[in-house]
Amino acid sequence: MGEASGQSTSTFGGVVYECVRCGTRQTAEELSRLPEIKCICGYRVLRKARPQIVKQLKAI
Ligand SMILES: [Zn+2]
Repeated sequence: MGEASGQSTSTFGGVVYECVRCGTRQTAEELSRLPEIKCICGYRVLRKARPQIVKQLKAI
């Protein structure tokens, strides 16, 4: 028995950032592991994006 491997990172509640240049998405958790916040393409301008759209408008 040991500690649970999964840690709850409530600080980054599933926030995803999208590169405005190439559109690559990375989670805030992944970005936090990097020495600096930037995309794999080298661009530093990221915008917040939602990991998945849960709420949808009724457009029937
Ligand atoms: Zn990029």
